This record gives sequence, structure tokens and C-alpha cells, in this order.
Amino acid sequence: MNIYPVKIPYLIKSIFHKWIWCFNTSEKHIYLTFDDGPIPEITPWVLEQLNNYNAKATFFCIGDNIKKHPEVFHQIIEKGHRVGNHTYHHINGWKHTTTTYINNCHKTELLLPDSEKTKIFRPPYGKIKREQAKTLRKKGYKIIMWEVLSGDFDTSISADQCIKNVLRAVNKGSIVVFHDSKKAFPRLQGALPIILKELHQKGYVFKTIP
Ligand SMILES: [Zn+2]
Repeated sequence: MNIYPVKIPYLIKSIFHKWIWCFNTSEKHIYLTFDDGPIPEITPWVLEQLNNYNAKATFFCIGDNIKKHPEVFHQIIEKGHRVGNHTYHHINGWKHTTTTYINNCHKTELLLPDSEKTKIFRPPYGKIKREQAKTLRKKGYKIIMWEVLSGDFDTSISADQCIKNVLRAVNKGSIVVFHDSKKAFPRLQGALPIILKELHQKGYVFKTIP
């Protein structure tokens, strides 16, 4: 039983309309995103899968992981993907003051190249206070949420269920969430190759967040 919505309802998107949930497009474009890396055990495998379909994606990186695995981080950039900020310690915005939260984001910003291109932010757990989001937007960040959750982080479901979650819910312009983490890998490993194959066959093209 899922306790999170696989597809974000229109109501939520319209209440939090300053945050980006999907893109309006008539083109068959899909925006795959990978959170919580980079880590050497998983991220290079993800890059390989994407490469098989000439797919581009966006990686919301944890600063602490960039610091520990700079070579993996550079692989992401070299392959033409986009990177964004996912805080330094993967902190929950609801549990921290705005000052602490912004400082944690800033610590990651210092590790990201070319500040203009990397000023995209995804809050860990999707939990961020309005004031924190507002402060980040003032600093030039776009807050990137999602429309479709694969559920790869959910240890109670199978890779097959992840495949179904994504294939049933995606549409033109959808932003889809995966995780390049060890916790998600048992599901990601089975789901990602199939999802890429199926969507590619349906004529979708995988793009970085614009
Ligand atoms: Zn995360």
C-alpha cells in the first residue's frame, strides 16, 4: 500500500504554483531526475543505462557525496547531464530553521560548477518551508519538485511495481523521480532499463531540466 501519491494531484501543483512540478509541452519530452548521489556503486551504472538510449537526465546531488566522490560527480557532467542542489546533508526543511537550511544549501552550491546552470534545487523528502523556498528563489534558484514518483525508495514494493508506477503516470513534460542510492538500487536496477526501453519505444526523448 503506497502512502505517497505516485502522481502529484493538480490541486497540489496549483497551490504551490511557484515550484516546478512538470513542463507544459506538446513534445514527447520526459525529465528523469536522480536524487541523493553521486556514489560510485550506483551512479556510473545509471549513466550507462542512460547512455544506451542517448538519454539526458538531471541529478540532484548531496554535497557531502560530491565531496566524497568528486570523480563520479565529474562523470555526470562530462556525459552532458545537468546537476542540481539537494542540500549538503540531506536535511528535512520542516525540521530546520531557514538560516540552517539555506547555509546547508550554500555549502553544496560551493561545490557546483557554473552557478547559473546549477541553480536548481530539490528539497530532500519534498519537505521545505515556504520561507526557505522563497529565500532560495530570491537567490536565483528554481525549486524543482516532480510529477511522478517511481517509488524506488520504497523497500516494500518490487521493481515491477516501480515500472508500473512510472509507465502509468508519465505524460509529455513529466518530471520523474528516481534515486541513485544503495537503498533504492534493488528496485532501480530492475526498473530503469525497462522504463527507458518502453518510453523510448513510445517515442519519448529524455531531456535535462531546462
Ligand atoms: Zn533525497
